[in-house]
Amino acid sequence: MKRVLVCGAGGFIGSHLARRLANEGFWVRGVDLKYPEFSQTACHEFIQADLRDPQVAHKAVEGIEDVYQLAADMGGAGYIFTGDHDADVMHNSASINLNILEEGRKAGVKRLFYSSSACIYPAYNQEDPDNPVCSEASAYPAAPDSEYGWEKLFSERLYASYSRNYGLEVHVARFHNIFGPDGTWEGGKEKAPAAICRKISEAPEDGEIEIWGDGKQTRSFLFVDECVEGVRRLMESDFAGPVNIGSEEMVSINQLAEMVMNIAGKKLRIRHIPGPLGVRGRNSDNKLIAEKLGWAPSRPLEEGLRKTFDWVSTQVKNRVGSMVA
Ligand code: NAD
Repeated sequence: MKRVLVCGAGGFIGSHLARRLANEGFWVRGVDLKYPEFSQTACHEFIQADLRDPQVAHKAVEGIEDVYQLAADMGGAGYIFTGDHDADVMHNSASINLNILEEGRKAGVKRLFYSSSACIYPAYNQEDPDNPVCSEASAYPAAPDSEYGWEKLFSERLYASYSRNYGLEVHVARFHNIFGPDGTWEGGKEKAPAAICRKISEAPEDGEIEIWGDGKQTRSFLFVDECVEGVRRLMESDFAGPVNIGSEEMVSINQLAEMVMNIAGKKLRIRHIPGPLGVRGRNSDNKLIAEKLGWAPSRPLEEGLRKTFDWVSTQVKNRVGSMVA
């Protein structure tokens, strides 16, 4: 059995990816600060440890052929756009990438996947909510709107450098707003789809929900199963990337809230409040992935939102239940 490592296997996308790899027949080692919060890990071996420590990275890559590096200090807008966590975000995530590449190289790892982000794209191309530019070639001249984005860009270059100088096979994807069950849904690190599902699930029939900003900012959201499919296809291809893995179905945050209200069968008022926002508009551009892999994500947003709403409402009910008990 081929032995693979998933860094960040206790996280949202990492736990889904580990399950997919185990189902495909790989022997999977996971490493993370924590076990998955909402499901059993599918990893055959799980190291609970801190990848900022080079010795942990050394142990993690031992005997491994392929590495999927998804570990990062990250969260939604409330975490990465306030400025309060910038030093941690940059130091922690850069340390993980430096360690994994250096220890992976020394241990003879053959292939590495790295999860970059749409947050690397220049803010100046994302001021018009109706026409954001996010083609891969538009990344430079660089001007990400967050330190999180700058770290991702630095690390993309780090992976490219190790490939150039040490012959490692690397594959880099830029994820655009991945969502789905088993993701953070409360506590400050949750992203817009999970936060909106939670607020709508918690609200009484005649209630209201709060949304940061005027809600006219646009985004696209990709269901986690499609993200994992894209990662696997990219890893098995001879294309290094960086390439977008995202949806091209762009919606405003107000529209996203309306979609979830329809799913929930509730008609709530929306109250707009000040909050951290990020860029005005962002959408995936899937021309390159379609050209290079002959595939692009295509399932409708509504389908993934239904599954996510069902899952988040169950979490909300269980929490209320445990508070009553
Ligand atoms: P997540 O926060 O659920 O998962 C990241 C995991 O990394 C967490 O479980 C965390 O505990 C782990 N981690 C953090 N620091 C660590 C350390 N020092 N040592 C070991 N483990 C550590 O996030 P996610 O949504 O699953 O994202 C996975 C990757 O995809 C991240 O690199 C993220 O930046 C990238 N990405 C995600 C999205 C998205 O919409 N979810 C978008 C763009 C990029």
